[in-house]
Amino acid sequence: MVMPELPEVETTRRGIVPHLTGRTVTGITLRAAKLRLPLSAELPRQLAGQRIEAIERRGKYLLFTCSDGTLLLHLGMTGHLRLVPSDSAPGKHDHVELHFDNNTTLRFTDPRKFGTLLWLTGEPLQHPLLAELGPEPLSADFTAEYLFKRSRKRSVATKLFIMNSKIVVGVGNIYANEALFLAGINPARAVGSLAPAETERLTAAIRQVLTEAIALGGTTLHDYLDAAGQPGYFSLKLHAYGRGGKPCSVCGTALQESRLGNRSTVWCPKCQQ
Ligand SMILES: [Zn+2]
Repeated sequence: MVMPELPEVETTRRGIVPHLTGRTVTGITLRAAKLRLPLSAELPRQLAGQRIEAIERRGKYLLFTCSDGTLLLHLGMTGHLRLVPSDSAPGKHDHVELHFDNNTTLRFTDPRKFGTLLWLTGEPLQHPLLAELGPEPLSADFTAEYLFKRSRKRSVATKLFIMNSKIVVGVGNIYANEALFLAGINPARAVGSLAPAETERLTAAIRQVLTEAIALGGTTLHDYLDAAGQPGYFSLKLHAYGRGGKPCSVCGTALQESRLGNRSTVWCPKCQQ
């Protein structure tokens, strides 16, 4: 199972927005006492009758803006959302269901129970889980200048730096490997040594891999309407991730593989300096 990363979460968001925006929650079913955190027994009372005003994303969190508060949802390691008819039978790992006034149920399936579901009142972006997040990688705030300034005098590996959500959100392991390959930067290189032109290439590469993954996800949106469908993890053409020992798609050199921050890291020793 592939961990949901920013493109999967964004595709999920785009998939459910047309079906749930403006709809009213008629009930919620909780079949687990806790996911990553305990599921509040107050959730059914808090959510019943709430109208979904908007569904937004911050990093890998989905924010359901409701009449009186915000439902914050994180898919965790193995979670996914699907829209199903309200009378469809739940499976073993379908721990949470939100029922809507159009006979539709938003079903949260989470085999490893690492997801998060919280009801927030007040300004959601000030919540401790969100307040310290760095800029969105596809926003105008994520620039080469920003990355250059934040990286000065830092000796941390470039890959770990771009995977730090306080620096930029949503660059998971697969996308970090791919972006560094595209940018021609060695993952282990001290980030403080990057020249301005390199931070330019790196920010562009991060935007490119995430944008391509979201665009590919668009073809799988129907899955979220189909009880038998699988979540949309995308057949992005991968140049680095999962290809250790195989020839580099640019120069043919065997790709190297090691662990960096305990995550699989693959790079071309010739193309990535
Ligand atoms: Zn190469």
